[in-house]
Amino acid sequence: MSRSAHPAGPRHADVLPEGHYSAPAADLNALDPKVWSHTVSRGDDGVVRVGGIDVKQLAEEFGTPGYFLDEADFRERARAWRTAFGHDADVFYAGKAFLSRAVVRWLHEEGLNLDVCSGGELATALSAGMPADRIAFHGNNKSEEEIRTAVEAGVGRIVLDSFQEIVRVAHIAQSLGKRQRAQIRVTVGVEAHTHEFIATAHEDQKFGIGLADGQAAEAVRRALALDGLELVGIHSHIGSQIFDMAGFEVAARRVVKLLAEVRDEHGVELPEIDLGGGLGIAYTSEDDPREPHEIAKALSEIVTRECEAAKLRTPRISVEPGRAIVGPTAFTLYEVGTIKPLDGLRTYVSVDGGMSDNIRTALYDAEYSVALVSRASDAEPMLVRVVGKHCESGDIVVKDAFLPADLAPGDLIAVPATGAYCRSMASNYNHALRPPVVAVHDGEARVIVRRETEEDILRLDVG
Ligand SMILES: *Cc1c(COP(=O)(O)O)cnc(C)c1O
Repeated sequence: MSRSAHPAGPRHADVLPEGHYSAPAADLNALDPKVWSHTVSRGDDGVVRVGGIDVKQLAEEFGTPGYFLDEADFRERARAWRTAFGHDADVFYAGKAFLSRAVVRWLHEEGLNLDVCSGGELATALSAGMPADRIAFHGNNKSEEEIRTAVEAGVGRIVLDSFQEIVRVAHIAQSLGKRQRAQIRVTVGVEAHTHEFIATAHEDQKFGIGLADGQAAEAVRRALALDGLELVGIHSHIGSQIFDMAGFEVAARRVVKLLAEVRDEHGVELPEIDLGGGLGIAYTSEDDPREPHEIAKALSEIVTRECEAAKLRTPRISVEPGRAIVGPTAFTLYEVGTIKPLDGLRTYVSVDGGMSDNIRTALYDAEYSVALVSRASDAEPMLVRVVGKHCESGDIVVKDAFLPADLAPGDLIAVPATGAYCRSMASNYNHALRPPVVAVHDGEARVIVRRETEEDILRLDVG
């Protein structure tokens, strides 16, 4: 077992003892291409660069902390997913991982679709010119206003999450003189995380409608009867940071069984099946994610096989990767502030950000890597814990890692694979100013989300 903790939460924690960590890499100056974005490399001067610009220059121009996003790498990954799934399937980028107007434009240009799950995400997508029919709207408690905005805009699908919502969306669509394309989200009784999955009959969670006790079949029955809805498919999303395809296999089998039941009962073959997102990425060198083409092949084989067995036409498949596209494309750049060696334990390295720009370590016990990037060093490895500047002892960015023992205040260190669920989950805790996202491409760097200012904070505080 290669992880000491589970990104999806302590409930899924592996059994490794507290304090487990891997041995230091043979060369602390080396940058594992698995965890760093594609254009990252260390120059002859020892300084790390991305998109042709060195991090000292980036820090000077944009400050720290900051998220630096490798645009070429983002486009490459988006394209790899698009190409892997070809013309018989759709790729919806999960906007909640990280959404900005620049990203929406890149996705549009690369031929991807987009998942949103709030009015704010929908507004961002529409304002950047994503065609509404390529947007899917998710969420377990969409407001009436959000539903109305989505239907009026003409979103390609709304994913229905409850019995109330089936009626609510149908009613709103009908009142607007529309028929809304929709999928029903079902819970298939599979929880998949990292290297294992658990198949259960029931799922104790807030999303979707259960398959097990005929609830999902009843939801289909009701949706098919409503004029405001055009039911086009079934949706399932089984977890996050998944490496093993076995969970998808069980999910696909159960969804196809429902499709067969729907055909038998209503004479309707629903044309779409969405298998969700959750595909894992490498946060450390010990993670081994699959390539998009392997995932595409595995998923399409599973669905085709199950449909042949059930004598169904193979539905159009869609997937919703978020992390797997944006996660590896960015790193967070920090400046080292204070260094506190605790004898016999480890050295605490404090940086100028923390849980306000990366909550995943505190929230999920997530693991990250870290490297000294403003210079190379031949010093011995020292065991460190990288912590932030917040008033919270759980304010940890990287729990256990090795940095060179000559690390000093003013050095720049970077945490790779922070493109997903870091800026999008960032907070103003301690009135921290959320860092900018800077896109770097071919020797040019531009801010796509600017740094917050104290004025921004004070503007919200109406006194
Ligand atoms: C979060 C989510 C995704 C994306 O998950 P990743 O782990 O980022 O791939 C896709 N679909 C749905 C419904 C989600 O809630």
